[in-house]
Amino acid sequence: MIKNIAVIPGDGIGTEVIEQTVRVLDAIGEKFGHTFNYTYLEAGGCAIDSTGKPLPEETLEACKKSDSVLLGAVGGPKWENIPGIRPEQALLGLRGGLGLFANLRPAIMYDQLKAACPLKEEIIEGGLDIMIVRELTGGIYFGESGRSEDGQSAYDVEAYSVPEIERLLVQAAEIAMKRKKHVTVVDKANILETSRMWREVAAKVFADYPEIKVDFLYVDNASMQLVRNPRQFDVIATSNIFGDILSDEASQITGSIGMLPSASLGVGSFGMYEPVHGSAPDIAGKNIANPLATILSAAMMLRYSFNMTAEADAIEAAVGKTLDDGIRTADIAGGASPVGTKEMGDAVIARL
Ligand code: NAD
Repeated sequence: MIKNIAVIPGDGIGTEVIEQTVRVLDAIGEKFGHTFNYTYLEAGGCAIDSTGKPLPEETLEACKKSDSVLLGAVGGPKWENIPGIRPEQALLGLRGGLGLFANLRPAIMYDQLKAACPLKEEIIEGGLDIMIVRELTGGIYFGESGRSEDGQSAYDVEAYSVPEIERLLVQAAEIAMKRKKHVTVVDKANILETSRMWREVAAKVFADYPEIKVDFLYVDNASMQLVRNPRQFDVIATSNIFGDILSDEASQITGSIGMLPSASLGVGSFGMYEPVHGSAPDIAGKNIANPLATILSAAMMLRYSFNMTAEADAIEAAVGKTLDDGIRTADIAGGASPVGTKEMGDAVIARL
């Protein structure tokens, strides 16, 4: 198969983790007889430097023409104080411009990294595998915002339409059907009108999925349950802002943000794949960043966009084997002697 991948390394450790991930994809291509063509594009801080814009039109257009997008991370202190411009605008522009409305963030705790989990052993006994399905292009992050004329008050509007909620919940239901058939809808329906609408839409959507067990949790309770009893969750479906916060919380349970992949899906098979972590300016350029989150994001790309299940399994198995063999980057080393970003890439490729 021939696939065209738009590659956006971005800023900071983005370039380092992408370099290793492309090597892993090449190794997969060789092993399974596929050709991956890469178009390298700019977005984020580097794009501000070269074009003045966080998301140049050429980048968005080239992404639209590709089969999928692989992104490192954007942002950093260099671009924090430019009036009206932020590197992260590139992410919102890509998600909106590419019609990506569902963000999939698996929180899987690898048994080999149990020691890195801050929770007590009895709470995580038996492992952890949660999929957070977050709405990505609606809600308060995209709502009207502003300040009063006197500058003494500000507002951000949370708004959702029925179709926006519906397509997100259908996506969550389809994913749950391939997992343990359990969806928890997280909201704040005791206070927010939008949340009450989410519940009404959920009742309709899940009526078509009688095999799925559905329950509802307020977001404050959900954030508590994630550390008290995370094994109760299979798929969590929620709004943009709640999903943003809960997925970061879930990432801590798994031990390292350097291990967490993500996928953003729209209609059809097109998707954008990126690690959950940011550009980590504190460790950029030192060959110490963990590339596994991005490598696992590429595995998700093979699975969800290219329908290459055996290839995705092969990457995930190679990552598992690498961890089994005690190979760790600094963030997950826990006292053991760590390897660098490139050496971690080498180790995964060797085990493919
Ligand atoms: P961050 O995820 O970049 O870093 C948080 C902490 O985790 C840091 O101590 C970092 O060293 C560590 N870390 C992150 N990824 C790691 C990896 N792969 N291996 C080892 N350690 C890792 O979050 P932040 O510090 O809040 O943000 C830094 C910059 O990244 C900011 O400009 C922020 O806006 C941006 N950001 C971008 C994205 C994205 O591009 N999707 C997401 C979050 C933050």
